[in-house]
Amino acid sequence: MTDRLLRAGWPSSVSRPVVTPIQPSVVYASADPDELDAQYEGGAKGFTYAREGHPNAEVLAGLIDRMEGADGGIVTGSGMAAVGAALFGLLTAGDHALGADQLYGRSLRMMKEDLPRLGIATSLADPTDAAAFEAAIRPETKMILVEVVSNPTVRVADLHAIIAMARARGILVAVDNTFTTPAAVKPFDFGADIVIHSVTKLLAGHSDATLGYVVGRTPDLTQRMRVFAVTLGLTPSPFDCWLAERGLYTFDMRFARAEATAAALADRLAEVGGVRRVLYPGRRDHPDHNRVAGLLNGRPGNMVSFELDGGREAANRFVRALDQVAFAPTLGDVGTTLSHPASSSHRALTPEGRAALGISEGFFRVSVGCEPETALLQAFDAALDGVN
Ligand SMILES: *Cc1c(COP(=O)(O)O)cnc(C)c1O
Repeated sequence: MTDRLLRAGWPSSVSRPVVTPIQPSVVYASADPDELDAQYEGGAKGFTYAREGHPNAEVLAGLIDRMEGADGGIVTGSGMAAVGAALFGLLTAGDHALGADQLYGRSLRMMKEDLPRLGIATSLADPTDAAAFEAAIRPETKMILVEVVSNPTVRVADLHAIIAMARARGILVAVDNTFTTPAAVKPFDFGADIVIHSVTKLLAGHSDATLGYVVGRTPDLTQRMRVFAVTLGLTPSPFDCWLAERGLYTFDMRFARAEATAAALADRLAEVGGVRRVLYPGRRDHPDHNRVAGLLNGRPGNMVSFELDGGREAANRFVRALDQVAFAPTLGDVGTTLSHPASSSHRALTPEGRAALGISEGFFRVSVGCEPETALLQAFDAALDGVN
């Protein structure tokens, strides 16, 4: 310690920083107990303890709120913390939750293992098939959890129909908007009740911050999730929030660029030998292509999946040949990443379970990044040449 009683403080300046400062302080000092009362009771605005909220989280939440047309959103320490805040913060033992059958792997685990352990029944149905989805609704169904574009088969959910059937029955609809982002879908515009993000992915965009976001349509819904998130300590780190804020300022450009390259890559993959099929919602041959205009705002996104001939052996050769592209199970990075669901996200399934989803040993998912298009297409061409 120095010879001072208090810490050094901050130099005064009539000019202000252009960049948001990082505020790592866990605690905030108040003038007296009356002021603290006023803060807790909402009469005065002030931070108290970082688990309950801090400036960098508030700045980031405000930016994502604007993108989603939301108000008072909660930034959490990961995307899964946001999914957890929605499911555990709003459901009670005896309730039933219905999920899409191709949710993010950990969300599936939460549905299949963690909710039932606490007395919340769950089931899964295909969100591209409105009739099948409706048939899975029960009298106790309280919440539906869907992703608009599924992982890794990039199928597009029939969100209009799902929300209509949920509204008619007073069921909450939570939309994990990670893959689609507000550039393609603003779930509140379609009548969703809860919007969830893994900010880790496209929004932050640089694979250097792990964060989530969740918000309800009403202040009451958001408040119930916030209380749960603060109690469980699903708090984000100020530095991660700062990194994500910085990433958000380029989100529109990154997404547009990655999407244009994704469309070109999908078309190229559809032409070359050795590729059995290509899945990209922007292509006419995609089973849900008709939903791109009305649901995805004409934005098919940056995710392309494809199936290589030749099984695991060809898959190994392809990944090694494509050494300029990170073989890593994530998405939304500025750099293109390649994932192989059979050995990563979907390895817990049996081969038959994977086959039912159309995920063979030759199945790959590409999260297209912001590299120059020509260089990326050349790298894929060369790697495919090497395999064939
Ligand atoms: C990655 C991801 C999550 C989980 O987010 P984390 O930040 O990794 O906890 C949830 N949903 C979707 C769709 C994701 O892609």
